[in-house]
Amino acid sequence: MSTKYVYLFSEGSGKMRELLGGKGANLAEMTNLGMPVPQGFIITTEACTRYYTDKETISQDILDEVFGYLTQLELSTGKKFGDIDNPLLVSVRSGSRASMPGMMDTILNLGLNDTVVEGFAKLTNNPRFAYDSYRRFIQMFSDVVMDLPKHNFEVIIDEMKEKKGIKLDTEFTAEDLKEMVMHFKEYYRSAKQEEFPSDPKIQLVESVKAVFRSWNNPRAIYYRRMNDIPYSWGTAVNIQSMVFGNMGDDSGTGVAFTRNPSTGEKKLYGEFLMNAQGEDVVAGIRTPQTIDELKSVMPHAYDQFVDICDRLEEHYRDMQDMEFTIEKGKLYMLQTRNGKRTAAAALKVAVDLVKEGMITKENAILQVDPKQLDALLHPQFDTKKLQEAKPVGSALPASPGAASGRIVFTAADAVVWKERGEKIILVRLETSPEDIEGMHVSQGILTARGGMTSHAAVVARGMGTCCVSGCGDIKFTSAKTFTLGVVDFKEGDALSLDGSTGNIYAGAIPTVPASITGDFSTLMGWADEFRTLKVRTNADTPKDARQAVEFGAEGIGLVRTEHMFFEVDRIKAMREMIVSKTEEQRRKALLKLLPMQRSDFEGIYEAMEYRPVTIRYLDPPLHEFLPTDEEDIVNLALEMNLDLAELKNIISNLHEFNPMMGHRGCRLAVSYPEIAEMQTQAVIEAAINTIRKHPEWKIVPEIMIPLVGEVKELKYVKDIVVRVADKLIADSGLDMHYMVGTMIEIPRAALLADEIATEAEFFSFGTNDLTQMTFGFSRDDAGAFLSHYYDKKIYEQDPFARLDQNGVGKLVTMACKLGKQTRPNIKLGICGEHGGDPSSIEFCHKAGLSYVSCSPFRVPIARLAAAHAAIKEKNAK
Ligand code: PEP
Ligand code: MG
Repeated sequence: MSTKYVYLFSEGSGKMRELLGGKGANLAEMTNLGMPVPQGFIITTEACTRYYTDKETISQDILDEVFGYLTQLELSTGKKFGDIDNPLLVSVRSGSRASMPGMMDTILNLGLNDTVVEGFAKLTNNPRFAYDSYRRFIQMFSDVVMDLPKHNFEVIIDEMKEKKGIKLDTEFTAEDLKEMVMHFKEYYRSAKQEEFPSDPKIQLVESVKAVFRSWNNPRAIYYRRMNDIPYSWGTAVNIQSMVFGNMGDDSGTGVAFTRNPSTGEKKLYGEFLMNAQGEDVVAGIRTPQTIDELKSVMPHAYDQFVDICDRLEEHYRDMQDMEFTIEKGKLYMLQTRNGKRTAAAALKVAVDLVKEGMITKENAILQVDPKQLDALLHPQFDTKKLQEAKPVGSALPASPGAASGRIVFTAADAVVWKERGEKIILVRLETSPEDIEGMHVSQGILTARGGMTSHAAVVARGMGTCCVSGCGDIKFTSAKTFTLGVVDFKEGDALSLDGSTGNIYAGAIPTVPASITGDFSTLMGWADEFRTLKVRTNADTPKDARQAVEFGAEGIGLVRTEHMFFEVDRIKAMREMIVSKTEEQRRKALLKLLPMQRSDFEGIYEAMEYRPVTIRYLDPPLHEFLPTDEEDIVNLALEMNLDLAELKNIISNLHEFNPMMGHRGCRLAVSYPEIAEMQTQAVIEAAINTIRKHPEWKIVPEIMIPLVGEVKELKYVKDIVVRVADKLIADSGLDMHYMVGTMIEIPRAALLADEIATEAEFFSFGTNDLTQMTFGFSRDDAGAFLSHYYDKKIYEQDPFARLDQNGVGKLVTMACKLGKQTRPNIKLGICGEHGGDPSSIEFCHKAGLSYVSCSPFRVPIARLAAAHAAIKEKNAK
């Protein structure tokens, strides 16, 4: 049987998301539920995939199918494409499996041309409306399908306003709009060197191609990478017969959520505009009314809408985000989907739905995207400082959070400033899909136009970025300056936004750390009930360790001991150690480091109490510690009583061409065993001191040797550890245990994990280095060229952020298996960056690791992701 590429809404269902995309599947589902949906059909995601395999063409068999369905749509609506007396007009919209704001905008009113518009004017008895629809169509089609910027059409509109002495679009007469159409088409002709396509079928085919192309535009590629959406999914295309919200005062259009998407409160939330089309609400050019007001404006439609909202939420058992149009008093549903919401709202909705008996705890857990929690883990404004600050303005609290940063005015500038390490606030008249990357790198977003459902608001909420929208008081005085209240702002000025109240403040307001309470704490408690993977943290200081415990860390999976040596008072002793020429000199320097290191470890043991702590021995390339400033070199020479030239010579001899593959990790201890001796003494003495204070904590130090590639090198270092540790323990008279393990971060160690396990009591996968060495990509330099790989779709994800399950993952799985062969009870964990990435955590769960370790701020994300992995596995059985 040949593949079916097109489905009527009535042929599909909500379960066909993969084939019909989210929008299409939901339109089909609403149709099946008997809801008033303007009818149409869906071109499948498989047709999109085929478009790309067919070298960006739509094959004739698919086109034949599309036109066959068009005929069916004509029959069911009684209207005809291109007909003068009763024309069928359609909207064309993209719709992938996951909702993707980076993709194509909607095209409305498709099917109009110079003759159809005349008939349409007669039919509706409203020439002004007909020509307004036509000019909008030309604008949208040119912009979205033909790449002619919207702005150039706005210029034509502004010129006409000036010539006619009018201010508002609504003041244009039918004749004016007819003239506008002429100007638009003239512009189109001169820009494209061809006529605007008048054949509705060509308009349709070109629009479908544009949707398919949009799957591959830079914004979509960026959005997919951010959200782990594979390129192979493709997008569907929805073709739906038009209904008109701009047919007069008994018509209107709006968007609504069944619950508040900012707070999660159970109350219908939305806005609408009478006598308008959808784009007017989203673009934020006219200020919409709240959905409650619809009750008095059109009580019948309102009641029907409320009833549909209730049914949809009951049906999908999740908060819905809907678009509707009222045409001459009759309500139509144009879309429904699970609504994007802030992290706080996501938690409240999930917990409330469980309380309301609508969903199970498992479903509630799966409803919250672990990555979204990030927004709640970042600092909030210091309440006291916030009270003292006086807002310069206020607008809609579109997406909550506290944001302070420097003002930039374009998405491109945001990216540039971010690369310089600045925190930024993006200030725009309004945002559009092109701005997505700039929005993502910003701390906060402020727009002059747009409501709670404007592009800026919806996208910012999805990203968890603070956003204040629709600040009409902002007066732009040039492209990069504006006035708000009595204050003038320019690029680089500090600004603070409170996304929960909508207040805007000049200057930077200090922030305080976040905490886990209320619904957040409830959901995390549920997550802990279901997950089997333990969650540890990577922490090098007692402060970070305490923060991690607050966020639920069950131990430390990685203390990077070198991180303690970067502080000013310590780096000197470290440098002395590095440039020492003799063992004696080195031991002298190490003796200075010992008490510092011991007290650091004591601090960490105190902070972690009874929880396990893995301490990794010195790892970094030594050049990271070498002085480069002339002044520092002179001081070091003085301190060490060395000749300046001699020191410079030592420093230059220490230079390595490839430090990441150089004298680092256990290689240091192989060359200079006294380093491992000192570190063992520090770890064991710190543990002994802490056990003496808190015997009930039963501390078992976990000593981790980095960068091992050969069992003999591990054994060499382990022998030093055992010799020093056993003597100290014997002298202490305590009954104390410790473990020695290794990182698996060199491919050779993974390949020979069975041998390594003869010495190692635990493995911790150092997937940062393992990725670096498996790909042969430098961790420090790959960023510069990986973007070319994304553009060319050789790789879709940054392998340093998301574990490469095919390659690096294979090494991990193999090493686990080999390690267990030798030592069945070997403890397995991961401490590379991937330990905090949800999709990598799912992999770790499947690979049978016992814990993941990640930075303190990722601990709650990892707890939730681990619960997702466990529940998904259970559901798959
Ligand atoms: C690793 O390589 O994954 C790791 C955790 O160690 P580091 O990042 O310190 O090299
Ligand atoms: Mg490493």
